[in-house]
Amino acid sequence: MENKLEKIVALAKRRGFIFPGSEIYGGISGIYDYGPLGVEFKNNVKQAWRKEMFRRQDNIFELDSSILMQRQVWEASGHTSAGFTDPLRECKKCHHRYRADHLAEEGIDKCPNCGGELMEARKFNLLVETHLGPVKDDSSLTYLRGETTQGIYVNYKNIKTSMSAEIPFGVGQIGKAFRNEITPGHFTYRMREFEQMEQQYFVKPAQAEKYFEYWKNERMKWYLGLGVKKEKLRFRPHAKDELAHYAKGAEDIEYEFPFGWHEIEGVHNRGDWDLSRHSKFSGEDLSEVDEKTGERFYPYIVETSAGADRAALVFLIDAYSEDKNNERIVLKLHPKLASYKAAVFPLLRNKPELVNKAREVYLMLKKQNLGPVAWDDRGNIGKRYYSQDEIGTPWTITCDFQTLEDDTITVRDRDTTKQERVKIQELKNYFEDKLK
Ligand code: ATP
Repeated sequence: MENKLEKIVALAKRRGFIFPGSEIYGGISGIYDYGPLGVEFKNNVKQAWRKEMFRRQDNIFELDSSILMQRQVWEASGHTSAGFTDPLRECKKCHHRYRADHLAEEGIDKCPNCGGELMEARKFNLLVETHLGPVKDDSSLTYLRGETTQGIYVNYKNIKTSMSAEIPFGVGQIGKAFRNEITPGHFTYRMREFEQMEQQYFVKPAQAEKYFEYWKNERMKWYLGLGVKKEKLRFRPHAKDELAHYAKGAEDIEYEFPFGWHEIEGVHNRGDWDLSRHSKFSGEDLSEVDEKTGERFYPYIVETSAGADRAALVFLIDAYSEDKNNERIVLKLHPKLASYKAAVFPLLRNKPELVNKAREVYLMLKKQNLGPVAWDDRGNIGKRYYSQDEIGTPWTITCDFQTLEDDTITVRDRDTTKQERVKIQELKNYFEDKLK
């Protein structure tokens, strides 16, 4: 099964999806660069999330907060506090971390979760440090954000006021996060620089459980709607001793990767921890008044916390298939996620009348706003199909001699390999219908 991941890593590099970071210098652990097809693809993943959150769902606002924040933000969040910098030992296999002193007390030397080998104890503060300003001393120390969430909390009041938002409402954002992961690995599954797609839903305490259930189901539906196989997805509730100290409830959405079942998204009921902590640390009162009872309360937060890279990896793995009969690799990506929506070929490259006609169709489709369209006139038709199947292009269009006579072209479907003739003037509607 690991083999499948290796094949995907190779395909991703060969076809311009994902490259190892700083590769000509020997690479850099946990860092990857997205190539031309990868940018399109990952943007489609992010766009699908944005459409879901800010268009389909109701009352959710989008934010784009900075990567750099006041250092106190990370003190309030608990990321730099004693609890987070206690010596921990991490399991090399399942990445669970344990307080070294607790393990020592009980004389445990293997991972209590999976029996894996534990790393030496060390102080963990996963935040990546940096300095702002000309002098590099303790007062200029700050961090690259370790999660996008905190930018939402510090803007809670700004959004509520400027948008006249009323509880319940949500705030979401997509952006980079940085973590000095001890064991980056499994390709883009665990990186040191990655992108998150997080949403925080602010509710009255009594509503938190209801929305926790709501968001769990909505988020699962999102992966299913984009074609991920049902049997490869599951919920995993966090055990009591696994819950963050502030969390009231948490479930992960897990995917069965070639390296086992692992988290792809967390849905958490964070209680009133975040807004109460930021009120305390900033001095700004972020509490609300219940209009019925007149009582003050801190909104509870139900969070949906996904990773753009991790979701993209799930889509790639889930879509990857090998057709044994004609030895082709097919990336059965949902058309909405595919980098190219279509590819146009002239049947033969040495017949100018075919090339010119195909070129016309290509340029026409490019203008239609359907999404990127590829052009290919190399090699034979079979090779071109193979080449497009491998990157997940859902439809390939060929101009042949009949096209010159009746203005119809053949459209081939990636998954069924069935071909049909379509009138050139009808192509736009044809694809619009398919992409709906
Ligand atoms: P893990 O247990 O895998 O380290 P986590 O529980 O620390 O993850 P969260 O802090 O809840 O993860 O982050 C939310 C989401 O952000 C994760 O579900 C994942 O999709 C993504 N994510 C977190 N860390 C990374 C990383 N190092 N590389 C890529 N994506 C990540």
